[in-house]
Amino acid sequence: MLTLAMSDPPSRDALAQYTTGARALDTLGIVGFFAAAGAVLARLGSVEGVFAEPLMWGALLAGYIGADFFSGTVHWFFDTWLSVRTPVLGTMFVRPFREHHVDRTAITRHGFVEVNGSNCLATCPVLVAALLLDPGSPGGRLLMAFLLALCLGVFATNQFHKWAHLSDPPRAVRWLQAAHLALGAEHHALHHAAPYDRHYCITTGWLNRPLDRIGFFRALERGISWLSGASPREEDTALT
Ligand SMILES: [Zn+2]
Ligand SMILES: [Zn+2]
Repeated sequence: MLTLAMSDPPSRDALAQYTTGARALDTLGIVGFFAAAGAVLARLGSVEGVFAEPLMWGALLAGYIGADFFSGTVHWFFDTWLSVRTPVLGTMFVRPFREHHVDRTAITRHGFVEVNGSNCLATCPVLVAALLLDPGSPGGRLLMAFLLALCLGVFATNQFHKWAHLSDPPRAVRWLQAAHLALGAEHHALHHAAPYDRHYCITTGWLNRPLDRIGFFRALERGISWLSGASPREEDTALT
């Protein structure tokens, strides 16, 4: 277990600690994710001509864009407000964010389970909810498609993020990055400059410029600081 005295900043070793329990839970999450995503796809595909509907492709695209927004919002929230000492979420979910700013290449040495497990765990309940929708109704199948693309995009996020940090990515990955279907390395490098407060979206990065331009996260921070009295990025700033 990750154990930290409240007054000590977490050490580099503590941040790199990936426990056996966390690995087991992540593995379960990955199995559950693929089973649930496969079931949603099969249920959606059981409707004849479903992928010939233009709105269906609109829903899939909206889900993929939604994943980029979700990645940015969650990344911002964990970087800015939570702590590795936050109960329940700290060890499993916040720790990798803190480790990543201290050692950005650590992610390139993490295996498939460590990279992708937490996002699979987070999306399983959404996929189960999608399974309860009725693909026989137009609204039901559009929402199913949206949620499926959203969850597939969220699942891909940490893998895309890892690829953005590889010094020599495989050719297929370079193609995806050049086509802007996956997060680009140069684009993402803008996040890795102190104080780590911009370009939070890490699925495709499509929304980074619009969100930075309108000051989306700064406005949220002002609101949260006003309501709670907390300062943004306290733990992250102490570590980096
Ligand atoms: Zn970050
Ligand atoms: Zn990164």
